[in-house]
Amino acid sequence: MPPDPNCLFCRLVADGDHVRSTDGFVAIRDINPAAETHLLVLPERHIDTLRDVAELPDEEAARMLRFIAEVAAAEGLEDYRVIVNIGPSAGQTVFHLHWHVLAGSALPGFH
Ligand code: AMP
Ligand code: ZN
Repeated sequence: MPPDPNCLFCRLVADGDHVRSTDGFVAIRDINPAAETHLLVLPERHIDTLRDVAELPDEEAARMLRFIAEVAAAEGLEDYRVIVNIGPSAGQTVFHLHWHVLAGSALPGFH
């Protein structure tokens, strides 16, 4: 989908501070970190949610995952957690696909 002028993350793709970028994807720092390290990895092009992953060609989906690993390695992270919220009741508040990359001592366990 084309950039959406009403989408916060489309605007950050265009104008934001990128921790790292590659062809088609960027990583930014979460403005309200939920852990010591909290990055967001997002496709440059607008995709509402991971539910729409079928919109990504296989090659692009694979590059997205590889980029997450590159971003984590570049941050010096060995252990980290990757989360995607899909839909409002799962906690999605920004409807431009993004992967949370979380690491550090504040990381809570799942019980
Ligand atoms: P989600 O709740 O999964 O949709 O995640 C949205 C995330 O975007 C939250 O963790 C927010 O803290 C983060 N966020 C919101 N606005 C900004 C911004 N301007 N720059 C960076 N991160 C943001
Ligand atoms: Zn967008």
